[in-house]
Amino acid sequence: MSWWGPGVEGSTAPVVTDALPSDNAFLDTAYVALGSNQGDRAKLLGEAVVRLEATVGVDAVTCSPLYQTPAVSLGGVGDADAADAYLNAVALLRTTLEPRALLERLLEIEGELGRVPRGQRAKWADRPIDLDLVLFGDLVIDEPGLTVPHPRLAERWFVLRPLCDLDPDALHPVTGRSAAAMLEAVEGAGNPVAGFGFAFPTDPTEAEQD
Ligand code: AMP
Repeated sequence: MSWWGPGVEGSTAPVVTDALPSDNAFLDTAYVALGSNQGDRAKLLGEAVVRLEATVGVDAVTCSPLYQTPAVSLGGVGDADAADAYLNAVALLRTTLEPRALLERLLEIEGELGRVPRGQRAKWADRPIDLDLVLFGDLVIDEPGLTVPHPRLAERWFVLRPLCDLDPDALHPVTGRSAAAMLEAVEGAGNPVAGFGFAFPTDPTEAEQD
């Protein structure tokens, strides 16, 4: 596993760089967005990444820095320092799994980490963990229960910001726009810009101690 961060300004957390993901041609590149606004958020994100990496068919995981961002709900956008603020990150996976199998593993990990199943929770409810498949290579999928790229990717600062840390040139296969161009379009356009980033520490639990 590699915890990767670009040395975010103000961060005292160590930036750990292990081997970058393999360039094995049989592996696809997928991006998974992670979020948590309940419990020990950094620890939960770290647990999710560990479980992703332990998944059969996932070769390597590289995680972006974490960003603290305001919760978005029916009432609008909250404050980035409110009690219900999220920690968000994006993980890059190199995988032999099919998109549907990866989605099922994401839902399984959500359940393992305490997420109440869909249908038993409110749409905007606080959540210990949320995992979304945002990009899977250049595939475009629109099936019951699986839409890729994630339909709200281009609107979400809290996904685009960490995605750009991993690869600002990652392309949206429908619009052809890069992650950097999508980020530029939402920044300052009423979307949350109050997130602040820090590199994922070696021990994710350290992040909540300050
Ligand atoms: P939520 O966790 O509330 O964002 O919604 C999860 C549900 O959205 C699951 O039941 C998935 O079947 C469905 N879904 C559709 N496309 C995606 C995607 N790209 N990533 C994650 N969940 C998806």
